[in-house]
Amino acid sequence: MEKETAKSLNFIEEIIEDDIKSGKNGGAVLTRFPPEPNGYLHIGHAKSICLNFGLARKYGGRCNLRFDDTNPEKEDVEYVDSIMEDVKWLGFQWNDRPYYASDYFGQIYEWALLLIRKGLAYVCDMSAEEISRTRGTPTEPGAESPGRSRSIEENIDLFTRMKKGEFPDGTKVLRARIDMASPNMHMRDPVLYRIKRDTHHRTGDEWCIYPMYDFAHGQSDYIEGITHSICTLEFEVHRPLYDWFLDHIAEEGRTRPRQIEFARLNLTYTVMSKRMLLRLVREGFVAGWDDPRMPTIAGMRRRGYTPESIRAFAAVIGVAKRDTVVDMALLEHCVREDLNRRAQRVMGVINPLRVVIENYPPEKTEEFGIKNNPEDETMGTRQVPFSGAIYIERDDFMEEPPKGFFRLSPGREVRLRAAYLITCTGVVKNEKGEITELRCRCDPESRGGDAPDGRKVKGTLHWVSAAHAVPAEFRLYDRLFTKEDPSEAGEDGDFTSNISPDSVRTAAGFVEPFIKAAAAGDRFQFERIGYFCMDPDSSEGRPVFNRTVSLKDSWAKTAARSG
Ligand code: ATP
Ligand code: MG
Repeated sequence: MEKETAKSLNFIEEIIEDDIKSGKNGGAVLTRFPPEPNGYLHIGHAKSICLNFGLARKYGGRCNLRFDDTNPEKEDVEYVDSIMEDVKWLGFQWNDRPYYASDYFGQIYEWALLLIRKGLAYVCDMSAEEISRTRGTPTEPGAESPGRSRSIEENIDLFTRMKKGEFPDGTKVLRARIDMASPNMHMRDPVLYRIKRDTHHRTGDEWCIYPMYDFAHGQSDYIEGITHSICTLEFEVHRPLYDWFLDHIAEEGRTRPRQIEFARLNLTYTVMSKRMLLRLVREGFVAGWDDPRMPTIAGMRRRGYTPESIRAFAAVIGVAKRDTVVDMALLEHCVREDLNRRAQRVMGVINPLRVVIENYPPEKTEEFGIKNNPEDETMGTRQVPFSGAIYIERDDFMEEPPKGFFRLSPGREVRLRAAYLITCTGVVKNEKGEITELRCRCDPESRGGDAPDGRKVKGTLHWVSAAHAVPAEFRLYDRLFTKEDPSEAGEDGDFTSNISPDSVRTAAGFVEPFIKAAAAGDRFQFERIGYFCMDPDSSEGRPVFNRTVSLKDSWAKTAARSG
């Protein structure tokens, strides 16, 4: 029993449960999600959000949303706002208010002075290039900076003057005095502060020196009383530094955060580096951060993904200590499963072909009741109007059908979903020989779509009554990249050459009139076609639908084959 419970916990939950049992931090659990506001959140961040907020929820703790805003050059309030919107949309509520690392600039500055006074930090006059050149290699120690032997008084004097703005940008930095021979490169006198005259989106021009990530992150955790500071694996090598700072600034009796690393999410057929996403936006490869092809939360929302499906995806992939690549098809599978349960069904025709039913009275219309969602009886039924001229999908007709094609062709009978059985009696073509219209006859006895004599009719087609059809634009999205690993060539490589030329195709079709009541953001399953979400670009009388996912589930198939 005991064992079984333990097995279902991930390694972070095990750590937290051990801490709670041993009474560490008084049993409190306070996590944080610390985005840098230099871009929109993506599906990788969603994993981290679900993890941090989820742990707080599970253990009766809280989770802070903290903006890691220490680099004014790249940061912006637009990003701050979008991040808050996305976290809320995913279904999470942060502890009391948003937090900002920039609120701690004063305290972090005091800690820098404290380290100087302890002889643990010094002002260095080297440029960024010199610092990196003299850092050594993993097997050779680095060279000590001349600044290393400065007196405490001189360091205090220089550092306070750095703050006052007496030196030009990039001419001095404050460095920790640790070990230039450490096998961990991050411990070789890392930079704590740099001079950078940049207007900060919150502190304005109050500061011209800004702390480096490593000298702000753990300190922010400590100030907020974070118990478990969960980050991605690339920070594992920073952990000795995280602890070193805490060793020298933390006071007895205060909560000391523990850094725990987990494997970041990598997904096939997309990129997740914020630098690359920014390039896609800036260079116009997509329409914006919320382009439905983007792996951003804003993009996925616009595409029609639900917060529930993203949370389900995060739960399915779990947390591990080793990097893996997750198949995009798994994410799409989670979206499809969730939409299957909740999406309103409607009929829409993307590539319309007009069909005239010759023996149906031209002025007549009638209505057929169709279930709104066969997966959920409580969603009820709707009335769908029918008349003697309808649209069907062009692909559902073939003049010379190959073997195994059970849809409409000359002389063949098919079922119009929930309406009538029809037989094709004629094909109308234009002067170029293209099919412009079909002529059919219906069996008046087959009202509702059932053969009166029980004869077998294999094909069932969706349709829209021409007299009642609402013209609509369909944006048929596909994966943005053709390659499983589009960023193979690295951050600076030309990943944009792997962008798919077919990542979006638009079509003009028709939808049943039920759609008139829909609003942007509403999600539908267009029967036999796929899941769609109404786009904010929709206008009165002309809805625009984004294809969220097709109906075909390649993940379930692969899983079934291998399982
Ligand atoms: P940058 O490229 O700017 O470093 P980042 O993606 O690391 O970007 P942050 O804003 O620093 O962005 O990320 C906020 C939090 O989200 C961090 O704790 C980070 O570890 C986590 N995170 C970022 N990317 C992923 C990912 N792919 N999978 C899981 N967590 C992620
Ligand atoms: Mg980061």
